[in-house]
Amino acid sequence: MRLFEGTEFDIPPTCDRCQQLETDCQCPPPVHEYLPNSRQIARLRVEKRKRGKVVTLVVGLQPNETDLPKLLTSLKNTCGAGGTIGDNGIEIQGDHLTRMTDCLAEMGYRIAK
Ligand SMILES: [Zn+2]
Repeated sequence: MRLFEGTEFDIPPTCDRCQQLETDCQCPPPVHEYLPNSRQIARLRVEKRKRGKVVTLVVGLQPNETDLPKLLTSLKNTCGAGGTIGDNGIEIQGDHLTRMTDCLAEMGYRIAK
């Protein structure tokens, strides 16, 4: 007897939209809609790293609900600094707390005090 025989898992997966087998489905991938900026709360803080390196962090944004790469690009341009997407959020090199707070507020994000 197969593991899932007679259970719902035994049915080949079909597409929810066109009801075709997933292998035959021609539907375009769903477009992900990000959460509006105004429903996200950003927390900013400056952190000192090894060898005197300082970074400004943006945390608290929901990674799956935010276009983080796009936001990173905007912040890098605003600050004229390098940056990266880390485990906790966005990291921009240097102390840009005020500028980044203004930038995020301008985009409509709520800023945690
Ligand atoms: Zn489909």
